[in-house]
Amino acid sequence: MWGSLRLLLKLNLKGKLHVPQSKSIQPKGPARTRFAPSPTGYLHLGSLRTALYNYLLAKSTGGQFLLRLEDTDQKRLVPDAEANIYKSLNWTGLRPDESPEVGGPYGPYKQSERKSIYKEYADQLIKAGYAYKCYCSKDRLLHLRETAMALKPPTTVTYDRKCLHAPEGEEEFTFRFKSPERYEAFTDLLHGKLDLQPLVNPTDRRFDDFVILKLDGLPTYHFANVVDDHLMKITHVIRGEEWLAATPKHIAMYRAFGWEPPQFIHIPLLTSLTDKKLSKRQGDIGVLSMKDEGILPEALTNFAALFGWSPPRPEKGKPTSEVMSLEDLVSKFLLDHLTKGNAKVNDNKLHFFNKSHLLSRISEPSSLEKLVDETFPGFKKVTNGEFSKDFWSHLIQNVGPNVSSIQEIQNVHTYFFKEVDLAESKMPSEKEKCLSILQTIRRAQTSDSPFPVDDILKTNPELKKKDLFQAARFALAGGVSGITIPTLINILGYEKYVERLDNAIVFLEAEIL
Ligand code: GLU
Repeated sequence: MWGSLRLLLKLNLKGKLHVPQSKSIQPKGPARTRFAPSPTGYLHLGSLRTALYNYLLAKSTGGQFLLRLEDTDQKRLVPDAEANIYKSLNWTGLRPDESPEVGGPYGPYKQSERKSIYKEYADQLIKAGYAYKCYCSKDRLLHLRETAMALKPPTTVTYDRKCLHAPEGEEEFTFRFKSPERYEAFTDLLHGKLDLQPLVNPTDRRFDDFVILKLDGLPTYHFANVVDDHLMKITHVIRGEEWLAATPKHIAMYRAFGWEPPQFIHIPLLTSLTDKKLSKRQGDIGVLSMKDEGILPEALTNFAALFGWSPPRPEKGKPTSEVMSLEDLVSKFLLDHLTKGNAKVNDNKLHFFNKSHLLSRISEPSSLEKLVDETFPGFKKVTNGEFSKDFWSHLIQNVGPNVSSIQEIQNVHTYFFKEVDLAESKMPSEKEKCLSILQTIRRAQTSDSPFPVDDILKTNPELKKKDLFQAARFALAGGVSGITIPTLINILGYEKYVERLDNAIVFLEAEIL
């Protein structure tokens, strides 16, 4: 035994003790995580990714995923944002185990309904000397802020602690947290140890005594967040990097209460490919509007997961694929594979994922049926109920493998359910040639062999295969590409096919005259 200990010590001295280079940050036991949006806007890609990572961590460790609505900033509430958040999460399959909708043992899960809880905990801090009532007027506080900014160097902490020992007054008051001299350094699982201190001016000492309860009795984000994460037994907080700077404040409050803080993981910002903040045009659209554009939920979660996380390398000989369902993501998720750099959003990838997931839905009978059921109402609307569900299913099965979304069938390949408006279609470059090819096809086709390309080329060696297909595409689909001619004929049916050839012949004859 001594021998091996000596060996260890020796190795240690040489700096070669076998300690894993980077320790795994994946929790050993079940993680309780939460997604805590403020209903100040619709759910977008960035917040979906935050929700997703929290969901994946909880599910991959056998824990729970909570949804908590942080609605204490009453001025910034957007009326239908709350409903949008619930709908978006349900649609993407990130169903919370506890939430304002489904309830749970640590509710209520809406902060506006927890007012008395915050008051109780704020009083506790006052009693313990970690908080005090502040009676300062708005004007005084504004003046303090302005003078703080005018200092050289300026300071980000502005309050002068006038009310720290103020006697109980009659006026309105807020509760302030008595901040420590220095905030303690903390460990973020992704970024490592961080020592973040506010900027102070040594000649004009002010304090970071932030408000924890506002005049309206509602808590500020910082305070409610800490109280709730503790009471809801959250073990891991995954949130955007923009909250990193606030974390020392949160930890100071945990210490004041004597509570153990959760583990923190701050994930990088999403940016456009050119490193700019996401804009509406570049990827930053609401989750539900992506649904309306025909994006499948599993494609969206697949897309969002890869901004700042990558799956473990597959075993040797196994294929690599970035295409993953939500279940795949759960089975592969490890915190260790999160990355630090900003994540760039490339919409092309979303369309690639959508195509792949659409294909796998189509090839599996029960998921195909579900897809048909879900999308038929939309199709019915577009076609005024003229077509059956069977036809829609047939269309999805045959056209689906060639499109990147269901919406594309309804918006681009409309010639399957609407007459072709030849006058509005892309005209073939040589009308005479197109006309004569169509006439040739018309003469050569039979119901057994509606598009006998090889026969036509044999008897008309001057024709090119490409021109033949182009002419047929003009007549059948108004020139829209993407679907093969045999598929077009198969879906339209023989009679409609012949009718369209005839219509195009008549149309071109009139054009040429
Ligand atoms: N309510 C905050 C937000 O809207 C939550 C931040 C956090 O997760 O602590 O992003």
